[in-house]
Amino acid sequence: MKKVLILEDEENIRSFVVINLQRAGYVTVEAATGQEALDKLREHPDVDVAVLDIMLPDIDGFEVCRRIRATSKRIGIIMLTARTQEMDKVTGLMNGADDYVTKPFSPAELTARLDALVRRVRGDTVSVSELLTHGPFIMNTRNRTLEKFGNRIRLTQVEYAIVKLFMQNPGRALSREEILSAVWGREYEGDLKIVDVNIRRLRIKLEDNPNLPVYVTTVWGYGYKWGS
Ligand code: CA
Repeated sequence: MKKVLILEDEENIRSFVVINLQRAGYVTVEAATGQEALDKLREHPDVDVAVLDIMLPDIDGFEVCRRIRATSKRIGIIMLTARTQEMDKVTGLMNGADDYVTKPFSPAELTARLDALVRRVRGDTVSVSELLTHGPFIMNTRNRTLEKFGNRIRLTQVEYAIVKLFMQNPGRALSREEILSAVWGREYEGDLKIVDVNIRRLRIKLEDNPNLPVYVTTVWGYGYKWGS
């Protein structure tokens, strides 16, 4: 049994998260204020992971995180941060959080991060750092899988290596030479066109419309970029 505490004062978001986590096999405990979360944790000492919103009506999520950590090192903590507040991530991690998820998030992303954290809390070797996420995509670098909106996308080893390179360098223009050397190795003497051929195939697998790519975008006269 995996037990998760969800601290979120907005009822719509909270019930959306609860429904999705129950569907993913979690037993859920809910709290709408920081104080309620701390009380519920005392009632349920077997909670594996906590999802903490930051903006709350009483004490903020960082303080809740700090107070949980003062009594328990074992529990896994994920902060829910707002997209615009880059500092949230740093503050959260400084206060003892293990990970953060940026709002708005997909249920698949939150579940994947929670699953990884539960395994880590329980002493398995998978760590959150083995997950790469971007928009609807989640790459698990441990079992070499890629999902889009929770659906598995089948990739060749070469395609997997290209997507991993992209996801490790979001928003950065990568030259075709760079991609060739990173994926095929420095000694590879084939044509650069092999990069373009693989990109074309990848777009068919990854894009909603391969003719209007938004994930694998072209940098004219140079190469490609992950994201626009
Ligand atoms: Ca809130």
